[in-house]
Amino acid sequence: MSKNDVMIGLEIHVQMTSLKTKLFCGCSSDYRNSPPNTNVCPVCLGLPGSLPMINKKAVEKAIQVAIALNMEISKTLSWTRKHYFYPDLPKNYQITQYDGKGVSTIAKNGYVSYTVNGNSYVARIRRINIEEDPGKILYPSGSMITSDYILIDYNRSGIALLEIVTEPDFKTHQQVSSFLKKLRSILEHLGIADFSLEGSMRVDVNISIGGGKRVELKNISSIAEIENAIVYEITRQRTLLNLGREVEMETRHWDQERKVTFATRAKETEEDYRYFPDPNLPSIEISEELVKKIRESLPELPDKRKERFIKDYKLSEYIASVLVSDKKLSDYFEEVMKSTSIDTQKAASFIVNDVLGWIPSGDTNELNKYIPPQKIAELLEMLREGKITIKMAKELIPELINGKSLKGAVEEKGWFEVIYSEEEILKVIESIMNEYPEAVKDSIKDKKAVQFLVGKVLEATNKRADPKKVYDLICKKIEKISSKLQEDL
Ligand SMILES: [Zn+2]
Repeated sequence: MSKNDVMIGLEIHVQMTSLKTKLFCGCSSDYRNSPPNTNVCPVCLGLPGSLPMINKKAVEKAIQVAIALNMEISKTLSWTRKHYFYPDLPKNYQITQYDGKGVSTIAKNGYVSYTVNGNSYVARIRRINIEEDPGKILYPSGSMITSDYILIDYNRSGIALLEIVTEPDFKTHQQVSSFLKKLRSILEHLGIADFSLEGSMRVDVNISIGGGKRVELKNISSIAEIENAIVYEITRQRTLLNLGREVEMETRHWDQERKVTFATRAKETEEDYRYFPDPNLPSIEISEELVKKIRESLPELPDKRKERFIKDYKLSEYIASVLVSDKKLSDYFEEVMKSTSIDTQKAASFIVNDVLGWIPSGDTNELNKYIPPQKIAELLEMLREGKITIKMAKELIPELINGKSLKGAVEEKGWFEVIYSEEEILKVIESIMNEYPEAVKDSIKDKKAVQFLVGKVLEATNKRADPKKVYDLICKKIEKISSKLQEDL
């Protein structure tokens, strides 16, 4: 390893938001809209004498993920206590899963393939485990450093989390973000989580340079901020190394406001956590039948969907990858295609390159709300019929987003009278060709002369006809005349 090699590993915490209840009690999973500390019970408050009960659905969901990430699934389900003293954790231990003597995590040794700018990579997944979410600490002034006191809301305490741990296989922030998008899409296709909910995915990033000490950046919840934090931290470590100083093994916090990382505590070692099996939750068998049943009922995943997009819709590898990296975007595209017979490539490119650009911060969760797929299908149909040009279609997107009907928006632009269907364009072309026979003769000899006729047709249609379409139609006509001339000779 060279002294400049960057190694990045990730620990991803995903809330299984599709579950109705928490991991070990009957409190609702939907805690976000409850007043603080009302969505709680003796179990998730860690009161003495309360006993946890396993949420079976959480286990089934975790097995789905294990299969989707190509992992080896454990034969037994076992639970471990991880001890640490922190106010968000009422029991002073977290119930999680651990690989050790007599206990194991639900699955290990998997992989996910992903692409960055058309290059393929594979990230190994070390393990996944199920665990409970701690409560939420609130800083009244918004920042850990400037707040005099903290508030704690235990509504989140006990929510089922999936921890996904990768090997340190990433070298750049682009690799990390492409991988996370792919992972998110897989989890969305499985119906595990709704990532539009605040804090539903939180990532710890481990970074080291040249095989040196590892720094952990804790709890970053947006992919854009994860990228910023990685760039900052690599620069910080490189600077220290260049000055001949050492990088400390520590946990650092990413300050989104100031865009810096700062040290919060020396990193605990494995021993500090005093892992031991939870005596309240005996191990149970994960049967092969159960795994088989789950495997057979798995929904279509992004890789398969991409293959189908390429095969059925004849999309390019690139545009298919862009679509399936986001389940909501793929769903939107397929919804649009139900109501239009326009060329599928054209539709996909229009959605990805034009429509998405009008959605604030490209958030596909908002796509349906801003512009229903039926409206885009209607617009694409007009384009297909040649009633509007691609330029006009693009101009109409913001009008539709503003809630106007397609007909209303077209009329307002004053385009209604002058929109030309293919049939109408052909009529104009015929009259222009009759009017300029010399130009027709020239065009037979030299294709460059066609441009003159195109210009005349555009003039006659007040530039409302699509130039490329006019050019193609004239060329067809000229070819017909020229082959007829050949026959006559
Ligand atoms: Zn509870």
